[in-house]
Amino acid sequence: MHVVRTATELSQVQVMIPGPVHFVPTMGALHAGHASLISTAVKNRDADRDQGSVLVSIFVNKTQFNDKKDFETYPRNEAADLKLCEMAGADIVFIPDDDQMYPDEYLGTEVCVPGISKEWEGRFRPGHFNGVATVVMKLFHLSLPDYAYFGEKDWQQCRVIERMVADLNVPVYLVFCPTVREQDGLAISSRNQLLPADERPKAPMLFARISQCADDIRKGTDPRAAELEAADRLHADGFTSVDYVAAVDGSSLAPIEGAKPGARVLAAASIGGVRLIDNVPI
Ligand code: AMP
Repeated sequence: MHVVRTATELSQVQVMIPGPVHFVPTMGALHAGHASLISTAVKNRDADRDQGSVLVSIFVNKTQFNDKKDFETYPRNEAADLKLCEMAGADIVFIPDDDQMYPDEYLGTEVCVPGISKEWEGRFRPGHFNGVATVVMKLFHLSLPDYAYFGEKDWQQCRVIERMVADLNVPVYLVFCPTVREQDGLAISSRNQLLPADERPKAPMLFARISQCADDIRKGTDPRAAELEAADRLHADGFTSVDYVAAVDGSSLAPIEGAKPGARVLAAASIGGVRLIDNVPI
């Protein structure tokens, strides 16, 4: 496995491994969710006659953090990350530093995906999706992937990237991978390790409440009533703030008036000072 830290090193290594590039962008603190993306990429690489390479990037992108403290406390563990990448079968790990991605002369050119970036996470994390779209586009240009892998845990992020790729004719095939959960249902996230021990047992209630909400909507409950009920229950469960519980069309992310194919419940709520997001199908 090659570990590279600059754009030049990356292209030098990529020349040595011809064939399709399977790209998994991450912010590190890798866990079973990331491992499933890498394993899917490895499986697709191995199924291809031309082989090719699996490239993982690790970069904690400060421009997508609207909260400075969140950026500073974001977990980082390069040694463990490299071990996980190696075990999962990655060929190249790209770990740029801030100067590589945003050198002094960087003027702040941004990719903005309007509409779909505005609601839900976009409302509570101003600028977040501009940061995400921009860094993903930069990483695409640096690594020239044929395939790129994203987790459905970040449903809105998937839709933003999908729109960016379609609108700007980016020649990459996107692969969306299902959310990996702990046994108790909590969606695995790098931020979970920041949960205080006494709050951790309550965290799976986010998944439980939005699953109940989806179920109620399927059975005919008005989506707005089901959302309110879920938010109330989350407060009662010990969540300190519930940013949103939203029953939406899975593509446009517009609120739905009743169950329909492809619909999702999206939610974000905080417990023990940690903001969690999750989503489920209706
Ligand atoms: P992050 O390091 O949080 O930026 O995540 C990198 C990629 O891993 C994103 O595409 C995430 O959606 C995906 N991911 C994170 N957690 C999970 C999970 N529990 N299941 C599936 N994919 C995940």
